Amino acid sequence: MFYHMTGLHIDTQFTCVCFYILFLSQYLCKKKLPTRTNRIYGIMLLVGGLNLAFDILTVYTITHLTTSHPLINRMAHQIFIGSLDVFIALLCYYVLSLIPRERPLTPRYIVLLMLPVALSLIAVLTGPLSYYNDGKYAYSWGFSANTVYLSIAIYLFLTFYYLLRYRLHIGSRIFVPISIAVGVEIAIALLQLRHPEWLISSLGITLILGFIYVSLANPGEYTEKQTGCLGRYAFQIMLDEKLRFDDTFYVISIFLDNQNFIINTFGHRMSDQMLGRLAKTLEKTMAVPIYHTRSRCLSAICSGSAEAVRIQTDALAALLDQSIQVEHTSLHAQTRIYVIAAPQFFKTPDAFEAIQDHLALQSPNVNPDHQPVLFYGEAEAKALKRRVDIQTLLQKAVMKQDFHVVYQPIYNTHTQTIQSAEALVRLNDTQTLGFISPEEFIPIAEHLGLIEDIGRFVFQEVCAFSHKNDLPNKGIAFMEINLSVIQCMNPNLTAELKAIMDTYHLDPGYFNLEITETAATLDSPFIDKNITALKALGCHFSMDDYGTGYSNLARMTETPYTIIKLDKSLIWPYFNHGTYTQESKRSRVILPSTVAMVNDLGASIVAEGVETKAMVKSLAAMGVDYLQGYYFSRPVPDLEFLEFLDTFIKQFT
Ligand code: C2E
Ligand code: CA
Ligand code: CA
Repeated sequence: MFYHMTGLHIDTQFTCVCFYILFLSQYLCKKKLPTRTNRIYGIMLLVGGLNLAFDILTVYTITHLTTSHPLINRMAHQIFIGSLDVFIALLCYYVLSLIPRERPLTPRYIVLLMLPVALSLIAVLTGPLSYYNDGKYAYSWGFSANTVYLSIAIYLFLTFYYLLRYRLHIGSRIFVPISIAVGVEIAIALLQLRHPEWLISSLGITLILGFIYVSLANPGEYTEKQTGCLGRYAFQIMLDEKLRFDDTFYVISIFLDNQNFIINTFGHRMSDQMLGRLAKTLEKTMAVPIYHTRSRCLSAICSGSAEAVRIQTDALAALLDQSIQVEHTSLHAQTRIYVIAAPQFFKTPDAFEAIQDHLALQSPNVNPDHQPVLFYGEAEAKALKRRVDIQTLLQKAVMKQDFHVVYQPIYNTHTQTIQSAEALVRLNDTQTLGFISPEEFIPIAEHLGLIEDIGRFVFQEVCAFSHKNDLPNKGIAFMEINLSVIQCMNPNLTAELKAIMDTYHLDPGYFNLEITETAATLDSPFIDKNITALKALGCHFSMDDYGTGYSNLARMTETPYTIIKLDKSLIWPYFNHGTYTQESKRSRVILPSTVAMVNDLGASIVAEGVETKAMVKSLAAMGVDYLQGYYFSRPVPDLEFLEFLDTFIKQFT
């Protein structure tokens, strides 16, 4: 704040103004996230610009002290030193906005933090502001100027302190340029005190603006090239900030359940275009940024009351009901919209990720009442907690091989003997969470990448048990073992299974590998390779759960299955005359014709869920070859299964 008296020397200021224009134009032109730090930077640019302008004006008035009006001179000075102080206070606030949530900016702390700048501004406005003028140098001095110096010193100290203290959290990409900026500013302040004739306060401002600009995220880092949407990284930045500063807010997540179908049918390009267009339309309707948070999911962050969010999401649902025109095709997004409240249901970005994982895995049929919007509530939170508990249990169980295999006999209607069994896995630990059905834990194990270990364990157990008790010579012609899709995709599957069979000297023909139809139709080269290789070895394949998906018998002839397993849901309505009239009527047509068709195609049939003698009689008469169900036995542990085989003949003949 010192000025050379001989002429208007504003070379430094002029250079600074050039750089300032560069930063300002870059800031205004580039797409940016509405983060708090970006907003503070915007204000810093404004205040910095004001400071530069009044810096130059002050140089003029002070070098023309006699000709310029004293009031104008005083006002120019007030704005100049006042804006300098505000700028450094903003720098401090900027750095504070980078620090973690554990150190929240409470209102009390913010008031305390604003105290120095507020007091010094009052002093600048009301206090005496004099100019020292010895004929060579002129500068502002007096009480007002001194309070500004003090305030700047406090903010620089605080900024430096917070930067150092939270350097690890801030991350080097941001920490390094901002520390350089703060360091340079401190050096400039000290130099100014020592060399009043150096005109460098504007240099400090410009350097700070420049270094912060360097540390700002590059828009390319958070926009996706393919869809043009803001991506996952942008969402994480915004979510992290919202969690740090906002009391309550909502994340609206839109799961696009038919996106895979669109990719398979129309290709990735169309799917990307559709996503981009959808995001843009939603952005317009909701007036908040839309992020592509994970594959097949768009999300928005909304503040406001629950009611306001409900109105907003209802409008969203109505919009999503319409189709989207992409090129010459009109596409329709099949969606589930969830509203998730924070911090009620998540307090960290990781917790939110877990919720999204959970919701992404939910079946599209989770919404049978077709509610336009689903509010994530206690029930979902409880289900997620159970899921996380099962995950932990499974991880431990896989490490300790804490599983066992049970066997459910399969009855041959022609020979009236037990000719086979299905091996089913069970978790040993029934204490921690009670009994957990494989129907529940297998999909979780698949998701965690644990299914291969479990599958290997089951195969190994079945082989050891069959070998030890010589099951093939006790009338068990083949054993049914479930293979997960994930296992089928493993390029080493065939070699691994072969090695285990060899260890126990079992013939590959002894194994009927059960795969679901989805596994056989998935577009993976390894599935085909594995099926072909295992068939070449002599293994057989069963199509599991026939009747649950979109069953396609044409496919069945492509992958020659030895057995088709009819799901309970196809069998039970046939025998249920009272309850499901419509369904049972239909199944009285479907079941017998399915059986006849499979027979004609040359495959054998297993009917699952056989629970009564009447079912046994009727299904056998229909031409079903094998029966499996509680009527004969529940799935039982190995020794019980052996006992069952021994007593079966007495029991059922
Ligand atoms: P799934 O392959 O359809 O197995 C048949 C399921 O039906 C078994 O359930 C069995 O206990 C049950 N069941 C059999 N007969 C009757 C009956 O008469 N009435 C009723 N109500 N149910 C009957 P479980 O053991 O709970 O297995 C559930 C699913 O978990 C299996 O369905 C299979 O998809 C999967 N799973 C089980 N073990 C394994 C395994 O080792 N590997 C893989 N990948 N999946 C497995
Ligand atoms: Ca099965
Ligand atoms: Ca089944």
